[in-house]
Amino acid sequence: MRCPACGCLDSKVTDSRPVEDGGSIRRRRECLQCGRRFTTYETFERQNLLVVKKDQSRELFSHEKLRGGIIAACHKRPVSAAQIEAVVDRVEQQAYNSLQEEITTRCIGEMVMNELKTLDDVAYIRFASVYRQFTDLPSFLTEMRKLLDERGEAAHALPAREQYHNHEVKDDA
Ligand SMILES: [Zn+2]
Repeated sequence: MRCPACGCLDSKVTDSRPVEDGGSIRRRRECLQCGRRFTTYETFERQNLLVVKKDQSRELFSHEKLRGGIIAACHKRPVSAAQIEAVVDRVEQQAYNSLQEEITTRCIGEMVMNELKTLDDVAYIRFASVYRQFTDLPSFLTEMRKLLDERGEAAHALPAREQYHNHEVKDDA
């Protein structure tokens, strides 16, 4: 690292400490020629991560796209901006931690759903309905029932699958 004052390439590290989440290291350096002190940061180099979509097309992983999807699911829900950012950060971290060059939209979707499940039921169901592409009420209700079962809550609060089928048939007629 070149000294910003004299351009000398020799410096010694006087202090090293991790920054906040441990994602980077801050080093205090002292120029061996002029004695000037300066700070450098060392971080991981993130390689490009490709997202594989359902139609097998690829696009670069987008922080903004991930964030947008989560914000939409949390619209008008009691979820703070800080909570949303935390979810985005954790999912992004997990995606990069896989150390693969590609990740499927499905895999990212599952990670987001796992996060939202602990945060807000409505946001979770909204997100799941987009990612799993529920095309009918029965499959949507199956997901709701699974969620309630996991919580040990009364799934019978929801109408039975058969009733919904009958209801739909009647509506179609
Ligand atoms: Zn210097």
